[in-house]
Amino acid sequence: MGKNRKRIIILSIVISIIIVGIYFFRSNNEVEQLPYTLFLTHLERGLVEEVELSNNDKIKIKLNNGKILETDNPRKDNFKEELLLYEVNVIEKEQQLSQLIPTILILSVLGFMVIHLSRNTSRQAAKEMNDLSKIDIQDENSKRIKFKDVAGNEEAKESLMDMVDFIKNPEIYTKFGARLPRGILLYGPPGTGKTLMAKALAGEAGVPFFAVSGSDFVQVYAGLGASRIRELFKNAKEAGKSVIFIDEIDSLGKKRKSGNHPSGSEEGDRTLNALLTEMSGFNDNEGIIVVAATNRVDILDDALLRPGRFDRQVEINLPDVKSRYEILKLHSRNKPISKEVDLKKVALETVYFSGAKLENLMNEAAIKAAKDKSKEITFSHIDKAYFSVLVGDEKKDRSTININDKKITAYHEAGHALVAKLISKDNRVTKVSIIPSTRGMGGFSINLPQDKMYQTKKDILSNIKVALGGRAAEEIIYGKDMVTTGASSDLEKATEMVLSMIGVFGMDEEVGLMNYNILANNNLSHKILLKRAKEILDKLYLETLDVLKQNLDRLKTLADNLVINEVISEEEINQLIFGK
Ligand code: ADP
Ligand code: ZN
Repeated sequence: MGKNRKRIIILSIVISIIIVGIYFFRSNNEVEQLPYTLFLTHLERGLVEEVELSNNDKIKIKLNNGKILETDNPRKDNFKEELLLYEVNVIEKEQQLSQLIPTILILSVLGFMVIHLSRNTSRQAAKEMNDLSKIDIQDENSKRIKFKDVAGNEEAKESLMDMVDFIKNPEIYTKFGARLPRGILLYGPPGTGKTLMAKALAGEAGVPFFAVSGSDFVQVYAGLGASRIRELFKNAKEAGKSVIFIDEIDSLGKKRKSGNHPSGSEEGDRTLNALLTEMSGFNDNEGIIVVAATNRVDILDDALLRPGRFDRQVEINLPDVKSRYEILKLHSRNKPISKEVDLKKVALETVYFSGAKLENLMNEAAIKAAKDKSKEITFSHIDKAYFSVLVGDEKKDRSTININDKKITAYHEAGHALVAKLISKDNRVTKVSIIPSTRGMGGFSINLPQDKMYQTKKDILSNIKVALGGRAAEEIIYGKDMVTTGASSDLEKATEMVLSMIGVFGMDEEVGLMNYNILANNNLSHKILLKRAKEILDKLYLETLDVLKQNLDRLKTLADNLVINEVISEEEINQLIFGK
């Protein structure tokens, strides 16, 4: 034991020295130098975000684009005031957190070694030591983000704004016996502002923000994930009211498989259980809200979605053209943009860009302008930035979808919507969109009259036609050979509907009242079912084609409008189809 301890102490000292070494090496050697005169021009152009004042010969500055540079320390008396007038963040070295980093690291190394000494294990030490330092990141120092810093996604914003009052005045609600939401799940594609919204919630409510990422919990050493969750909640409770943010919750809350666990997932379960326990462990009136984010809601464990947990789910989507304009405006606020730049036009040309990508675009443009030593950011800077942003992640997402794809999607979605409205005016089409969501390409929502208990055969037939409307529109506009793969899930739905119609609900005379599942389970032939299903689908498809052909003008109007506006509301749909 004595020998072991000595070895560990020596090891910790060596590691501490290495960490300190790395730290100093980084902070001293890697920083690019900026001539002082250039610094002044950057300052005037509003490109400087932060300056770290110190007594050293050099001072550190951070540009809006995140770049860290060093320049000569002017040691002027009123330097700080001058910087503040330029709206630059001034940090005085004494209060600098970064100075504490080596100490914190050393302490965590030592602490960790002690834990390990008692546990008598050592293998994973190095790996987990890394993780340990990011237990929870408190974001209090960063500028408080408010809802006005989030553009678009109005519905999501509204439902988060509700929470502000819950956090601030929980007593009011509990007095009325209302059960307050504890968890909100934000789901949608990456870069759409989920983290930003959670921060805004904390910012508006004026409470601390605690953030972790689910991916930090994967493959941690036994029990550590769970204890980290407990610690996170303990910290949050100590801070009083607060917002806890768990990014990538899917990586710790995946659907649990029954039966044998592949190694590692048992630990995931333990972490998930700890989270569920903690969430039911605080009182309604404590004013703690847990916000979780994921790109994939479909793979989440159901236990997470039950009442008292993440029972509010808010979808966050890629921005439509209006929201893109808002986001672009937001991220141009502190940039010298030339008057010739029409952000509306930029918004039009950035279909399928997420908020993060738009931010990136403006940032790249600013960098390009700074490199050009231009006075302002011009259209050509944005143009060049556009291509470098696109090239950067061409393979990863859909941003490169060209105008032609946009048109195809528009016709496809317009086809669904038009068929729905033409079959019955009572069918409510509440929204048509060509912006992809987590559920897939394009989007189209329809509310069939819900006030009845049963569906009739006629209803099912109509629904099948609506499902086929997308493909039918493609065929009419582009020809039989040019139809796309975009209809795959529609066809799945249509096939399912027709099979249940004739094989479950007994709604076809030729098939009669037989049940398809029983035939299949007893290995009896169900050829007749397949034959009838195909006949019915074919006939319905022809009818759908007919309806659309007779309303070609309407189809074109809808599609054109979709290409321009990307999203059309219920009133606009009715207006475009029926002119009222
Ligand atoms: P997510 O958590 O959904 O992946 P983030 O909140 O991390 O996305 O977004 C990254 C950055 O992109 C934000 O910090 C912000 O600069 C920008 N951004 C994303 N969405 C928006 C939006 N709706 N309004 C303004 N900025 C946005
Ligand atoms: Zn479709």
